[in-house]
Amino acid sequence: MKIGVLALQGAVAEHIRSLQLAGAEAVSVKRVEELDELDGIVIPGGESTTIGKLMRKYDFMDALQQFSAQGKPIFGTCAGLIVLAERIEGQDQPHLALMDMTVCRNAFGRQKESFETDLDIKGVSEPVRAVFIRAPLIESVGEGVDVLSVYNDEIVAARQQHLLACSFHPELTDDYRLHQYFVDMVQESLASKA
Ligand code: GLN
Repeated sequence: MKIGVLALQGAVAEHIRSLQLAGAEAVSVKRVEELDELDGIVIPGGESTTIGKLMRKYDFMDALQQFSAQGKPIFGTCAGLIVLAERIEGQDQPHLALMDMTVCRNAFGRQKESFETDLDIKGVSEPVRAVFIRAPLIESVGEGVDVLSVYNDEIVAARQQHLLACSFHPELTDDYRLHQYFVDMVQESLASKA
């Protein structure tokens, strides 16, 4: 099993380390041709307008939509979550529009630019330490989307079939259980094709 981390902008090495700890082979991805050899991909945090523009510039929009259409899992974290969403509150920026949800960027206010908390996540046994940095939140989700975690009544992690998204940075702690969750999703998707 080989999982890529989109390396246009953002925390790439940390995701690769967490995926490796979760037992996957992990590589950074800079060109669309590299998608063919992958079974899943992570879109990291960073700045979603920049990531969206770079994705468009390097032809990742269509390529990742096709990747998803093949049922290959995609995990978007923070800015990556924004890029996965169908609707971005008040913004018209390039995005993949794959997950049936509306997101709000920089939703936790200036006074809370970054903070950490322990989160209950459906499908993960013990609370996960979550680092939020100018994080988005998920304002609403469509029927096919499963809410995995809520913080102060706001949705901060969700799954729609082979698509996973979280508002925080799971790669910035030593706790790789959310990466493990994603690796398990990739394993399931491979098993269902076998
Ligand atoms: N605030 C960023 C955005 O809106 C996301 C921040 C992050 O990825 N840590 O794109």
